[in-house]
Amino acid sequence: MKVLVTGGAGYIGSHTVKKLCELGFDVTVLDNLCLGHVDAIDKNATFVQADLLDKNGIHRKLANQKFDAVIHFAANSLVGESVEKPMKYIGDNVQMAVNLLGWMQENNINKFILSSTANLFGKPNKIPIDEDTEIIPGSPYGESKYIIERMLACLGGSNKITYTSLRYFNAAGAYKDASIGEDHKIETHLIPLVIQVALGKRDKITIFGDDYETKDGTCIRDYVHVSDLATAHILALKHLGDNNSSTVYNLGSGNGYSVKEVVDAVQKITGKAVKYEVGNRRAGDPPMLIASSNKIKKELGWVPKYDNLEKIISSAWEWHKNNPNGFRH
Ligand code: UDP
Repeated sequence: MKVLVTGGAGYIGSHTVKKLCELGFDVTVLDNLCLGHVDAIDKNATFVQADLLDKNGIHRKLANQKFDAVIHFAANSLVGESVEKPMKYIGDNVQMAVNLLGWMQENNINKFILSSTANLFGKPNKIPIDEDTEIIPGSPYGESKYIIERMLACLGGSNKITYTSLRYFNAAGAYKDASIGEDHKIETHLIPLVIQVALGKRDKITIFGDDYETKDGTCIRDYVHVSDLATAHILALKHLGDNNSSTVYNLGSGNGYSVKEVVDAVQKITGKAVKYEVGNRRAGDPPMLIASSNKIKKELGWVPKYDNLEKIISSAWEWHKNNPNGFRH
């Protein structure tokens, strides 16, 4: 099976590409390297440097290539930034998807997997959050993914495409041999930030509010290992190959951990003290997000291997302690 992976130099994309290559898929990565790292791309994948906003460039650079399916990771994905710069999200994320889906239609490619997000559920009215939970995006980033999901529903409805949308909760961790891991050019995510304090690269972290209605007052999130997410893409790809039914899945470990529990776990695993201060709440942060992933477990047999916070943080720590400065390129 020949697969095009957009954003395959990014965090979740590169882990999925590595797993696809290990399993013998023929993989082409398309990435503009604005946020991704060339060193994160598996050596067995073909790399095409291109920007999905450049519609003509995509047509030119992918001319005469046949693909069986597309996995679309490429996107701006910072919730906070999306509030400051909504057009970078509602504009660019949506335009990239429009260009990609248009190119797919012209080339008769009709299998598509979307990288979606728990930020669709900005104000969940129930926990755990299953696929029937009402969608009220938490930010322009979540809105952009919701618009793309709606576009897919229209295309799916007219049999132009068969798609799976995977809505990730909080991705964390690194590849099993620590060859690749999490390295964002601007780091805003909790686990890598706390690990940077343990490594002495940062003095302290700020906990964004400790007055939420949760067990210790700090926000609760569902951390899910990046390799478990990669596996979910492969199961979805195989399923799309065998069936003509489109669907959406929520992907989390089903366990909720507070910000303070993350800090404690990093201290325990690294053996280093982590200094923190408590600051204001961050705009748009819901108190608690925990997934129900029963649907993908039941329908595709997905079983997360990293089923607790300790395993996830230990895996992240292996990567960060061996690569304190991240990727070279
Ligand atoms: N968080 C925090 N301090 C930080 C970064 C994050 O307290 O410097 C909290 C954030 O408010 C949220 C949780 O950690 O409750 C996870 O945040 P992250 O940005 O990693 O993922 P998100 O849940 O926003 O997708």
